[in-house]
Amino acid sequence: MNGHGKLSFALFAQIEKVGIAPNGNTLVGLLSACSHAGMVEEGRRYFQTMIGVNYSILPRIEHYGCMVDLLGRAGLLNEAHTVIKQMPGEVAPNAVVWGSLLHGCRIHRNTNLAEHVLKKLIALEPENSGNYVLLSNLYTSVGRYEDSAKLRLSMKHRNIQKLPGRSWIEADDGKVHEFLVGDRTHPWSDRIYMRLEELVIEMRKLGYVPSTEVVLFDVEEEEKEQSVGEHSEKLAVAFGLLKLPLKDTIRVSKNLRVCRDCHSVIKLISKITGRQIVIRDNNRFHSFSDGFCSCNDYW
Ligand code: ZN
Ligand code: ZN
Repeated sequence: MNGHGKLSFALFAQIEKVGIAPNGNTLVGLLSACSHAGMVEEGRRYFQTMIGVNYSILPRIEHYGCMVDLLGRAGLLNEAHTVIKQMPGEVAPNAVVWGSLLHGCRIHRNTNLAEHVLKKLIALEPENSGNYVLLSNLYTSVGRYEDSAKLRLSMKHRNIQKLPGRSWIEADDGKVHEFLVGDRTHPWSDRIYMRLEELVIEMRKLGYVPSTEVVLFDVEEEEKEQSVGEHSEKLAVAFGLLKLPLKDTIRVSKNLRVCRDCHSVIKLISKITGRQIVIRDNNRFHSFSDGFCSCNDYW
C-alpha cells in the first residue's frame, strides 16, 4: 500500500523458497501489491495459480475485490466487470467490490458504466451519501441536470446526511488536531491560510495552476462544493509545516480519498519545503518526498 510492489514479490519468493505454503491472506497481500503497482499480468497470473493446482486456495471476496481493483485501475473495465459478474453465488459482490469498479470508472472517465455501478451501490448502501453525490455529480458532468436534481431531492426526502472531508494530524504536543474542509475554527487558522497563500505563489513559479473548477466526477463526497484550496488535508499539512520541527515527517490522516488537486499541491509542497509528508487516505498511504509520491500518481 506504500507502493513497494516489487518488494512484496521478493518477500513472496522467500516464502516459497523456505517452503511455507501461502494462505488466502498471503494472496490478498500479493494481489493488492499488484493492484497498487499497476502490475496486471502478475495479478492475473497469481489469481489463476491461486485457484489452480499450485496453491488450491478458494478465492474469497477480498481476492475478487483485488482483481476488480487491479483491472479497473488499469482501464480494463469490461474485464473487471466480468470478474464481478462471474463471482460464484456464495460470494456475492459487496459495496467494496463495486466501489473498486467505480474507482476504475472514475480514473478512466467511463460515465456509462459508472452510472450502472452507482445504482448498484445505492441499492446496496442506501444510507451512504457519497454514492448519491457522485451520481448526481456524474449527471451534472454530462449535462443531465434534471436527473441530478431529482437525485438530490430524493436524498433530501430520505434525510441522508452528507459526509464532510476531515483530516487529522498529531502535533508535537501529543494532541490530535482536526480540520474540516474550509475550517476556520482552529486557533492557528490565520497562520495556516497565510502559509498556504505563500506556498501557492511558490508553486505557481513551478507551473502549478490551481484548479478552481474541479472535474465533478473526480471529487468524492461533498468536497467539490468547497473551494479545493481549502480541502482539509491542505490545512492539516500547512499546520504541520508550521508546528512540527523540520526533521519530523508530517503525517496526516484523511477520511476520504485525496483529490487530484491536493495530491499535486502536496507533491509540490514536499519539493519546495524539503519536508517528508505522509497522507493516509481512506484507501492507501501516500509518501511525498522531493516532489514525488510513492503511489506514482496511481491511486
Ligand atoms: Zn483535495
Ligand atoms: Zn500519491
